[in-house]
Order: sequence, then structure tokens, then C-alpha cells
Amino acid sequence: MTGIRLDSVTKVYDGRYLAVDDVSLEVPAGEFLVLLGPSGCGKTTLLRMIAGLEDITAGDIWFGRSNITMLPPKERGVALVFQNGALYPNRTTRENILFPLQMAKEEPAEANAKAVGVARILQIDSTLDRLPRTLSGGQRQRVAIGRAIVRQPRVFLMDEPLSNLDATMRTELRQELGAMVRDLDVTTVYVTHDQIEALTLADRVAVMRNGKIEDIGTPEEVFNDPATAFVAGFLGSPRINLMSATVKVTAHHRVTLELGTQSIALPPTDRRSLILNRHDGARVIVGARSDAFTLTSDADTQLTGSLRTLEFHGNQWIAFVECGLELVNPDLVGVQPPTAVRRMQNGHTRHAAEHESLLDKLRNA
Ligand code: ATP
Repeated sequence: MTGIRLDSVTKVYDGRYLAVDDVSLEVPAGEFLVLLGPSGCGKTTLLRMIAGLEDITAGDIWFGRSNITMLPPKERGVALVFQNGALYPNRTTRENILFPLQMAKEEPAEANAKAVGVARILQIDSTLDRLPRTLSGGQRQRVAIGRAIVRQPRVFLMDEPLSNLDATMRTELRQELGAMVRDLDVTTVYVTHDQIEALTLADRVAVMRNGKIEDIGTPEEVFNDPATAFVAGFLGSPRINLMSATVKVTAHHRVTLELGTQSIALPPTDRRSLILNRHDGARVIVGARSDAFTLTSDADTQLTGSLRTLEFHGNQWIAFVECGLELVNPDLVGVQPPTAVRRMQNGHTRHAAEHESLLDKLRNA
């Protein structure tokens, strides 16, 4: 199995457009890493550089112990699946899947058995003798995946392989793809802008913005403990509420977050309390997802507001409440929010240091 390492990889197009900005990243052997981010953040460029389809402006790429920065794509042992898995139009499903095995000069009977086996796993064995134009979009994409996996590669690289499928097909193929890649145990880098795909498929998710990796961690880590307000805002639906607040610490080290005319008292044992009780007066950003709130008519409630609309989302109702708070636009914010304390408690001192410097920055802002 082959791990991937990127050392300060940069891509500048035409000497002017910085698409990937000094990215360093390690993908351990067998990991399923998802590159997630908004359109234009550099995901595809990064993937294409790993594949060898794009020149690297600066930096190095390693597969295991080999520096493959200058190696032509064919010699990298990668299998690629793109959005429109381009198939050979005049070849049947069987011939398309067989093609990489024929190139590798595998014995025909063995190659055929492998192709049929892969087609069976992907549930396209009934289409083995049909041409691509007679297949549905989902079936064509399965053939493209079959062709990629039939010759077990060192690395899988996939660029939005499900994005052209309808919602039902996407969910179904996503589950199959995830199970298949895990069975094969091949290091995989998968590009998407779909957070559900990222959270469901990944061992780790790298969230990109403006050519940089802004956060990386397990799906739970990036969702529950985002490194920046941008990441918090990018993940989750409905969108997280990000609010500007001032920390107020009372004589007994009780922490209150002042949000304009309202305030939220943190329980003394709350992990955020333990961090913030040394930062009286600091300006912070509070991130709270809708499921952190309970709508109540109690008088001693923490936040009050007037109900604007109620939306039915099938399995839940979402209430939009006007509370007169100062909301933060996550697109403009790239700082470490105070919610990112779990990793600090786990002993990651880097985050602790960043947190301190954030508080300083916010204090001086
Ligand atoms: P999407 O999700 O829309 O595919 P992406 O995150 O994959 O976006 P890239 O396609 O890697 O982003 O593009 C990153 C940046 O580089 C964008 O600003 C894009 O306009 C620019 N870019 C991409 N290809 C070229 C090119 N051949 N020449 C100049 N600029 C390019």
C-alpha cells in the first residue's frame, strides 16, 4: 500500500493565478481522504497534480518513499475517475473494463474473469455486451469506476464522480463506492463540493479555501470542532449560526457571552468556560447549530426573539427567530473560533497557541 505526501505544493496558472498555495499534506496508506471546498478553491488542481496531469509550480509529491513529482502520469500507478467518466464509445462495457488489463498484457481468460467480477460487484453485468450510448448515466459511471478499479492501482483519484447522477442514484452509488474502495484498501483522494459525500465517505476530510487547506480531520472533528468560522459555515444544513460576542467573566469565574442586548451564561464546567474564564473582555465568535437551541416559551430562557418563519424539512422543523444579534458572515472570517477547544483539551498545543493568538487578535480588532 502506498501513502501520499505533498510537500509545499503550489500551482500558479499562467504565472498569475494562484490556484494551490503551499499545501503540505500526508495521506497515510489506505486512507480515504476527501478534498472538500467551494467552487474554485483548488481541489481539482491539487488532484490533477497528484495524477501528473498538471505541472507543479513548486513543491514535491511523494508516493511512499518515491518522489514522483516529475514522473509521467502513466508511470504513477493511479486510477482516475472523473465527473463524466469518459468511456470508449465504440467499446462495450466488457471491452471498456478490459482495456487496462489488455494494456498490461494480462492473460485474456483471467482478464475476462476479472472484468466480469468487477461488473458483477457494480451491478452492470447485464450490460457487458452493450455500448456506452445505450446505457444510463449511472450505468456509464459504474463502467468508468469498474475500469478504474479492475487493475488494482496504487492510488485512486476521483473528481466528483457522482455529481452528474440524480439524487437516488448518487446515494446508492456513493454507498457502493465507499464499500468497494474500503474492501480494496487503496489510498484514495476524492474531490467533491458536496458535504454529505465528504462526511459519509471520508476517513478524513480536508476543507479547502483559496488554494489552502483550512482544516483537516475526521468528519466528526471538522463538523463538531471546525478550525475556522469558514469551515463551520461551510458544513451543516441549515447553516450554523455565527454570532459576535464579548466574553464577560464575573468574580466567581462564571463566563457569560454578551451578544448585543442579550447574553448566554455558560455552565461553569463547560469546556468553553474553562478556556474563556481567563479572557474577560475578549471579542469572540459564537457558533451554534440549530439543534443546539430548543424553542420554549419559558420566561427564564437564555435568548429571546420573535419567531419569523417555520420550515418543514421532513424529519424536523426549523424555526427562524429574530433575536437582534450581530451575525458574522462566515465567508469573511478565517479565524479560529472559540468552539475549537476539543482538540486543545486533547493536548494539541498548536491549537491552544492559535487560540491565544486569536483572542489577542480579536481584542486588538
Ligand atoms: P470546481 O469545484 O468548480 O471544479 P475547484 O475547487 O476544483 O473548483 P480548480 O478547478 O482547481 O478549483 O481551480 C482553482 C482556481 O484555478 C480557480 O480560480 C480557477 O479559475 C483556476 N484555474 C483552473 N484551471 C485553470 C487554467 N487552466 N488556467 C488558469 N486558471 C485556472
